[in-house]
Amino acid sequence: MGYRQECFQVFPLVVPADQTTTITIRALYDHCRLEKNTEYEVAYYPKEYWTEECKRKTFFLRPQGDSLVISHHFTGEQEHVFTVTYEQDGEEQSVGTFSVYSLQPDLFARRPFKGDLHMHSYYSDGRQSPAYVGAYSRMVGLDFIAITDHHQYAPSLEVQNAFSEVAVDLRMFPGEEVHPPECHTHLVNFGGSFSVNQLFQDRESYRHELEGVMQGLNPLPAGIDPYEYASLVWSLDKIREAKGLGIFCHPHWVTDNRFNVPRPLLDYLFEQQPFDAFELLGGIAPQCNNLQVAYYNEQRAHGRIIPIVGSSDSHSCLNHTRLGAIHTIVFSPTLELQDLISSVKELYSVAVEAIPGENSRVYGPLRLVKYAEFLLRKYVPLHDRMCFAEGNHMLDYIGGNEEAANWLQACKGQVGRLMDKLWA
Ligand SMILES: [Zn+2]
Ligand SMILES: [Zn+2]
Repeated sequence: MGYRQECFQVFPLVVPADQTTTITIRALYDHCRLEKNTEYEVAYYPKEYWTEECKRKTFFLRPQGDSLVISHHFTGEQEHVFTVTYEQDGEEQSVGTFSVYSLQPDLFARRPFKGDLHMHSYYSDGRQSPAYVGAYSRMVGLDFIAITDHHQYAPSLEVQNAFSEVAVDLRMFPGEEVHPPECHTHLVNFGGSFSVNQLFQDRESYRHELEGVMQGLNPLPAGIDPYEYASLVWSLDKIREAKGLGIFCHPHWVTDNRFNVPRPLLDYLFEQQPFDAFELLGGIAPQCNNLQVAYYNEQRAHGRIIPIVGSSDSHSCLNHTRLGAIHTIVFSPTLELQDLISSVKELYSVAVEAIPGENSRVYGPLRLVKYAEFLLRKYVPLHDRMCFAEGNHMLDYIGGNEEAANWLQACKGQVGRLMDKLWA
């Protein structure tokens, strides 16, 4: 009978490649205690870079207190698997299978942050208040969000204000879904320091600037409305001026019996890439995501370099296939806005679909997908458990529970401390 792995903690869990690091496998509870006089057999397997000679190595260890301590040279960037067994009455018993991931320096210097860069509140067509959406986002395991209501920037600030007087680790950034006038294509301004939608209010000066953009355009391929293309270029330039990330959203969303973005415009947008990131996964419909992934793969095969995000585009926290399920993991040095934005632009992000009860799927560069898949198994459950508790306290706080501020204070920094322990 093997113990459930949750009975043990492995730390560090992520180590530098091509160095010797000491890892500890610690039994957390009495029922999985390691016996001090027992010899445990450890078998080591490098998952990816193996040869006939090194594919399995075994050695024996006695526990140090409640832990097995292993010093090992972790070769290359890959997962390393350790199985631990012991003998009882002539029969082999399993303690468990444990893993560690080794990384090259660029990725090792980064931490995984789970974010949702596109979601709605009741100020547009969502169901709940910004504060409720914020609390719920933490409950489902997000490290950062932006509320991006249609045409509106203020709700993204309202959620910040709702928690401004308590200790919360969820980062809430400004944002909005940007809809240039008479333009079908949807954009998200993630993190921008001002509202781009607001600039459309002064219609005269907007049209004047747009004229300038249209005059500067190269001849457009057939089937593209120059006015629509120019308004996208103008809006994305403004998002960058605001130091935000300009996201191109859901081109394969079916609305009015047609895709949201006509094919010639879609192709030209990928050729020119006036946007900063493509919303590869959204929460609108699985079919939409299937097409977007196929389109992205073809574009990548043509040699295009495409930063990506995944966002729920949530309209209700209670829809479990959206908020928390569709998200981005950004591998960033910190959880600060500009670090997150540049990490996405430098291709350090993956889009994740983790619908409860289904197998998770990760999309993006293979190197990051492999690492993210390991994190979804070994790190994310620990992370999400902490977030769930914090999010509950956030809900209590906005619901008027006077003790909740103290509970939040007690939780402050716990995810950061978990990372400090798990990253060597
Ligand atoms: Zn939209
Ligand atoms: Zn939306």
